[in-house]
Amino acid sequence: MHTPLCRHATGEPVDYARHAIEAGLTEIGFSDHSPMLRDDFDNWRMFNSQLDEYVAKVRLAQKTFPELTIRLALEVDFLPGHEGWIRELAARHPWDYFIGSVHYVSESWDIDNPAKLSEWKKRDAFEVWKIYFERLTQAAESGLFDIIGHADLPKKFGIRPVQDCGPLYDTFLDAVAKANCCIELNTAGLRKDCKEIYPSRDLLQRAFARHVPITFGSDAHAPEEVGMNFSEAIELARSVGYAETCRFQQRQREAVWL
Ligand SMILES: [Zn+2]
Ligand SMILES: [Zn+2]
Repeated sequence: MHTPLCRHATGEPVDYARHAIEAGLTEIGFSDHSPMLRDDFDNWRMFNSQLDEYVAKVRLAQKTFPELTIRLALEVDFLPGHEGWIRELAARHPWDYFIGSVHYVSESWDIDNPAKLSEWKKRDAFEVWKIYFERLTQAAESGLFDIIGHADLPKKFGIRPVQDCGPLYDTFLDAVAKANCCIELNTAGLRKDCKEIYPSRDLLQRAFARHVPITFGSDAHAPEEVGMNFSEAIELARSVGYAETCRFQQRQREAVWL
């Protein structure tokens, strides 16, 4: 879940928490877009100087709603060469978990950015998916993350390669399993052109075959999106064979029955 500090979400953490209680959730986590080393890298994340303010907003929600477990986390962009910066971020606060996400397939193209949709027309879809999954595999191998976010994000706009992406998924998931990492079921995909949870059933089946643990996220950018479509996500997980999900505290994982 996000906060207004990332400049494309609305509502304060206290508003998300209130909505979570109304939705019957017992535990939530904030994982706003992490700052980059350079504040001018893009325009959809908090500034480096706002990290403490972000933590304070989450702490305020924890204090306001003691009946709800609220975890402090970040959605961290993985780009090759940024590992040192990610380690620095990890040391700055007692985070409960880090979600590692790939949005960038180059230093300048964030593939899920609607403002850059025209970039897709200049490239072969499979080439983009290949680079994306290579980076996602590196993210898993880095050992910097507890959870890998929205694993098949390139499908967001409904642009899909005709080629078989199975081998890309397999290489990625082998790395996830080896690194003892999780993947998330992210319901935001249902709100996008692809109209599908991230990841697809195919990818999730391959994850289950490797005993890769899962978490659930609504990727809420507004309070009313908290926990949205979780029943569909749980249904998908169960239908693939999953009986457990995970929770995190201070970057320690615990399995919970689904
Ligand atoms: Zn966002
Ligand atoms: Zn993301």
